[in-house]
Amino acid sequence: MSGDLSLEQLRDLVHPGGHTPIIQRRRAVLIHSRVRMVAAAFAVLTPLWIGIDVVIFQWPLWGWLALLRIVASAAFGALALGYRISDDIGSAWRGLALLLAVPTVFFLLSHPMLNQQEIVGVAAAVGAGYAFLPFVMVAGLSVFPLTAIEGLVFALPLLSAHLAAGLYGSLVFPFPSYVGALWLLLLITVVAALAAMSQLHFMMALVDQASHDGMTGAFGRRIGEELLRLQFAHAQRSEHPLALVFVDLDDFKKVNDRYGHDEGDRVLRNAADAIRGMLRQSDILVRWGGEEFLLVMPNTAREGARAAAERLRSLGFGNRPDGSPQTASIGIAEYMADRPEDWERMVDLADHRMYLAKQAGKDRIVAVEMADAAQ
Ligand code: GH3
Ligand code: MG
Ligand code: MG
Repeated sequence: MSGDLSLEQLRDLVHPGGHTPIIQRRRAVLIHSRVRMVAAAFAVLTPLWIGIDVVIFQWPLWGWLALLRIVASAAFGALALGYRISDDIGSAWRGLALLLAVPTVFFLLSHPMLNQQEIVGVAAAVGAGYAFLPFVMVAGLSVFPLTAIEGLVFALPLLSAHLAAGLYGSLVFPFPSYVGALWLLLLITVVAALAAMSQLHFMMALVDQASHDGMTGAFGRRIGEELLRLQFAHAQRSEHPLALVFVDLDDFKKVNDRYGHDEGDRVLRNAADAIRGMLRQSDILVRWGGEEFLLVMPNTAREGARAAAERLRSLGFGNRPDGSPQTASIGIAEYMADRPEDWERMVDLADHRMYLAKQAGKDRIVAVEMADAAQ
């Protein structure tokens, strides 16, 4: 039934509770920018119809409608210009709610105005256009990357507005066709929610693809830095340990020189698999450079990280084409023990200690400065 979707992916498409911070932030930016785009389009389109209202409707009806359109256009314009794009999902939800609130209020105000007088012929046909507003807005939800729950929550006020107009008595839809219209609106809601979910699915797949290094399956450098920044901020805020393990394969250039680049790639992939095999679920593996990996270990103190690195070293990083074990030099930095000022300095420290391990003869771990370790 679910095609190539895993249960976890399906859950992420239904409600946002399990979204990773990266997904949440990317999605917030996307929703923000689309809110602005749609708001800008409607700021321009809404007043254009005034000309038609003037021709079709009598004074003062067209005057009221024109006033409504100008106010709505100004509200859309304020949303398009005054709204800052941020990566906060709460602010993205507010923006979308505001965007939908403008036409909902417009609909609820214009409906009684249009109902007050006898409208026939061409005017009735144009009046019907006003009744279709909730349909347009519900369909418009499909341009946003939303979960099923969000799609339904955002559609609810529009459905209610349509329902309220029906109870008030609609000039366009006498009762039987009104029920048909309600049914149609529900169908459009479902289709729009599915389209919004598929937007979300594509966005998540793209983020996933862009964040992983194709060869080793580890996180790429850019996303790795973002994840590390988040983890560092968390460790700082909550005074929790956070360990970085910098792994650089030993004499890797020789593997390439002797056996060729393809064999080198294979050794690199095996090394990444070996590292991944002993990670905890919360640990993050980043391909930091060519044959350099950075392991980010949340809630792990220095001794825990050292023990993990020892285990990694004893299990090995796979073999070279000649059967000899591929070794690595490892440097460790830890937030509580080293008190680095920022995440960049913490990486520098782990890198520096890896370099000390190289200098001391490779295939070893350095978790404190040599001067301390020697004593
Ligand atoms: P050291 O023990 O001092 O770390 O020596 P090394 O040869 O590993 O270090 P160096 O940094 O001089 O060389 C790293 C080599 O890794 C050079 C580069 O050709 C190779 N390399 C980097 N990325 C890849 C890759 O994706 N595939 C392959 N096959 N080789 C790579
Ligand atoms: Mg290197
Ligand atoms: Mg190396």
